[in-house]
Amino acid sequence: MKNMYDVIIVGAGTAGCTVARKLAEQGKKILILEKKNHIAGNCYDTKDEHGMLIHVYGPHIFHTSKENVYEFLSRFTEWYAFRHEVVANVHGQYMPVPFNLHTLKAAYGEERAKELEEKLVCIYGMGTKVPILDLMNHEDADLQMIGKFVYDNIYVYYTMKQWGKKPEEIDPAVTARVPVNISYDNCYFSDKYQGVPLHGFTAMFENMVEHKNITVELGKEAKDMLRVEDSKVLYQGEEFGGDVIFTGPIDEFFDCKYGRLPYRTLDFVFEYYEKDDFQGHSVVNYTVDQDYTRITEYKYLTGQKCKGTTISKEYPSAYTGEAGQIPYYSIANEENHALFAKYKAEVEEIPNFHLLGRLAEYQYYNIDVMVEKAMELAEKLR
Ligand SMILES: Cc1cc2nc3c(=O)[nH]c(=O)nc-3n(C[C@H](O)[C@H](O)[C@H](O)COP(=O)(O)OP(=O)(O)OC[C@H]3O[C@@H](n4cnc5c(N)ncnc54)[C@H](O)[C@@H]3O)c2cc1C
Repeated sequence: MKNMYDVIIVGAGTAGCTVARKLAEQGKKILILEKKNHIAGNCYDTKDEHGMLIHVYGPHIFHTSKENVYEFLSRFTEWYAFRHEVVANVHGQYMPVPFNLHTLKAAYGEERAKELEEKLVCIYGMGTKVPILDLMNHEDADLQMIGKFVYDNIYVYYTMKQWGKKPEEIDPAVTARVPVNISYDNCYFSDKYQGVPLHGFTAMFENMVEHKNITVELGKEAKDMLRVEDSKVLYQGEEFGGDVIFTGPIDEFFDCKYGRLPYRTLDFVFEYYEKDDFQGHSVVNYTVDQDYTRITEYKYLTGQKCKGTTISKEYPSAYTGEAGQIPYYSIANEENHALFAKYKAEVEEIPNFHLLGRLAEYQYYNIDVMVEKAMELAEKLR
C-alpha cells in the first residue's frame, strides 16, 4: 500500500475532486476516500423518480469572475447559461431581492416609487449600493421608511430562521451592511460567468476524476482507515508518508476532543406536482412567514424540459452531529474560531496533513473560491 498512492484525499466534493485532478495531472497517484455513495459533495445532483434533475443538498449556481477557475471547469462541462434572480414572498406578493428599484415599485406602487426613486438617485446616485443602516439613520423620513421596510419584510425573519436567532441576537454590524441596490438589475450575482453545468454538477465532477491516476472509493469513512498517532498519519495501521488532504469536518475526525464545532444544518423536503409550473421562479425566499426559508423549483435552474415540476422546501436547524445530519453552514464568531484554531494547531504538527474545504477550514466558500484554493494547494504540493 505504501507505494501505491502518493496522496490520499478525504472527500470527493468540489475541493477533493479539484485537487485530485490537478495532482493527478502532475503524475501523482491519488486515492480519494468518500463516505457517501456518490461524488460531488454538496453540489451533487441527480434525477428524481420523475426524471427531474434535482440538487439534493440545495440549489447550486456557479458564478465567477475568475478566468482560471472558469477555464478549468469548462474542460469538464459545457454550461447552461443562467442568470439567477431571486424573489421574496412578502405576504403573498413576489418582490425581487436584494431590494432594488423594481422592489421599490412592487412595495410602494408606480407613483410613490417614482418619487422615492428620485430621492434615492439624487442622494446616492444610480448604480450604488446603500447599507440599510444608512437609510434607517437618515434624517429624511422617506429613506428611514425604506430602510425599515427592508429590515422588517426582507431581512429580519429570514435571518432568524436561517441562523436560529432571536431579533435581539442578530448582529447589528451585519444588519447594517445589508444593501439596497439603486438600480434596475434583478440579478443575484454580478459575476462575468454564471450558470450550471449543462448535464449537471455530478457529471462535471465525474469527468474531472476520470483520470488514470485517480482511484475513488465510495462508502469509505476516513476514520475507519486513517488515524493520527504521534503526529504521523497511519493508513490501515501503516505509516503513510505521502500527503493527506482532508476536506471533511476536522472536529469529527479528532472525535470532537476540544468540543464540537457548531453548524447550521438543513432539511430539504422535495415535492412533485403534476403541473407545469409551481412558482414561476427558480428560488422564492419566504421572508415574513413559514418555517422554511425558501422554495426552489428545479426546472427553472436547469432549463430542463420535463413533465410536471419538482420543488424543495428548505428548513434550517442546529446541527447536532446525529447520524444522517449534514453540517452545512459554519457559524462565524470569535468563540467558534478559537475552537477551530485548536484543531488547526493540532494538524499543523503533522507535516503531511493538509486541511482544505468548507468543513476542514470551518469557513463558507463559494464553488469558485473552493476550486481556486484547491488549485493553489496542488501547486504548493508540486
Ligand atoms: C445550501 C448551500 C447552497 C450553496 N449554494 C452555492 C451556490 O449557489 N454557488 C456556489 O458557488 N456555492 C454554493 N454553496 C457552497 C458550495 O456548496 C461549496 O463551495 C462546496 O460544496 C465546497 O466543497 P467542499 O469540497 O469543501 O465540501 P463538500 O461539497 O461538502 O464536500 C466534502 C465531501 O467530503 C466528504 N466527507 C466528509 N467527511 C468525510 C469523512 N470523514 N470520510 C470520508 N468522506 C468525508 C463528504 O461526504 C463530502 O462529499 C452552497 C452551500 C450550501 C450549504
